[in-house]
Amino acid sequence: MTVSPITWYHATADISERNRLNGDLRCDVCVIGGGLTGVSTALNCAERGLNVVLLESETIGFGASGRNGGQVVQGFAVDIAVIEQYVGKESARIFFQMAREAVDDLKERTARHAPEADLRFGYLHLTLNNQQFKTMQSFCAALHAWGYTGPRMITRSEVRDWLGSDRYFGAMIDPESGQIHSLRYLLGLARGAEEAGAVLFEHSAARKVKGTIVQTDAGVVTAKHIVYCCNAYLGKLESKLYSKIMPIASFISVTEQLSASLVAAIFPQDVAVADCNIALDYFRLTHDRRLLFGSGASYSAITPPGLVHTMKRKIVRIFPEMGDITIDYQWGGLIGITINRIPDIGRLSNNTFYAHGFSGHGIALTGFAGKIIAEAITSSDSRLKLFETVRHRPFPGGWLRTPALMAGMSWAKIRDWLSI
Ligand SMILES: Cc1cc2nc3c(=O)[nH]c(=O)nc-3n(C[C@H](O)[C@H](O)[C@H](O)COP(=O)(O)OP(=O)(O)OC[C@H]3O[C@@H](n4cnc5c(N)ncnc54)[C@H](O)[C@@H]3O)c2cc1C
Repeated sequence: MTVSPITWYHATADISERNRLNGDLRCDVCVIGGGLTGVSTALNCAERGLNVVLLESETIGFGASGRNGGQVVQGFAVDIAVIEQYVGKESARIFFQMAREAVDDLKERTARHAPEADLRFGYLHLTLNNQQFKTMQSFCAALHAWGYTGPRMITRSEVRDWLGSDRYFGAMIDPESGQIHSLRYLLGLARGAEEAGAVLFEHSAARKVKGTIVQTDAGVVTAKHIVYCCNAYLGKLESKLYSKIMPIASFISVTEQLSASLVAAIFPQDVAVADCNIALDYFRLTHDRRLLFGSGASYSAITPPGLVHTMKRKIVRIFPEMGDITIDYQWGGLIGITINRIPDIGRLSNNTFYAHGFSGHGIALTGFAGKIIAEAITSSDSRLKLFETVRHRPFPGGWLRTPALMAGMSWAKIRDWLSI
């Protein structure tokens, strides 16, 4: 079989088309971008009685939200200790609680809007060597000290009870992280937003924004508030925002359906998995018994040559018995990272908001970003203000920023390999 031109997510979701904006509209909030951040913002604003228009340049879920690994992971892309350096101990405690709230919200939203999204809990943070294991042990102890006592460490011999691979040195089990069909989840939120009164347009790219007036090819939206939710797909629409995130491509392969005996051998427990290399491997079993395997980081939107072969090699390194496996689906998507890997959520002016830069850790946090932006517009901006206290510097180097990061990431890969 040849590799499918669409993602496994799109092939297994119930997708309905939405209108293109044609004409002029007025509203309270114009959301730009139809991924998890934009749709959550639209849903939360509409539920609070605001009149909302959302503009998506392609289709809902075209960006990272319909292309990701589906891993619902507690916390942020960086340890809370890093956030503490920016905001101090007391506020870091609130950040920690907010990240926990983000996963609780995702659970509640999934039950309400997208029960078909196959949300499952159980997660392994894998280590590949002694040094990574020790770092993970300290991280686990820190989580306990912050009051989250669910995670625990397991050694190499115990890993086999959870995952059918001899590759790993040990792991941290996190019972409250897990996995989800992120496109079904997103489409459920989109339906929820529409039921609450929001109007979502597809194939309606925001071409120009002046104040709170947004122009598309065939219409104009005049809003009281604008919310930018374009993440790594923002392009040149808002240069100040774009300078603060770096788009990085990551690639995902989904295998043919696996036999029940192979599933039992490689996933003795139903867990989602990631190793802790900087350019990490992350994988999980889908509801239709396929291995969904993500890996790598690239600074070009172009699919690397020989990707099917490379991904198969990586899978076989973990599960040698999968040498004959066929890849049915393969795609790439853009992750928006910030310099410090903390999400950048805030305001450009009193009535212009944004959220981006979840740094590969956005499935739960995007929903939370939408909630605190809606809170800031309708009632209290105290939680948004906390995010605004984190200073986000633009990536240095203008057009050179990508090669500079490439050099940095190559060094990171060498460090993973050398375990230093
Ligand atoms: C390959 C990959 C794997 C990942 N794996 C995980 C994972 O396992 N766990 C996890 O937590 N996170 C993961 N992430 C990150 C996660 O998917 C993102 O953090 C999250 O989806 C970001 O959502 P978003 O709505 O901010 O951005 P996006 O989903 O990228 O949405 C932005 C949208 O804005 C639209 N847009 C852009 N410009 C315009 C415009 N001018 N007008 C209108 N619309 C516009 C785009 O078309 C796009 O649909 C992964 C990301 C990728 C790419």
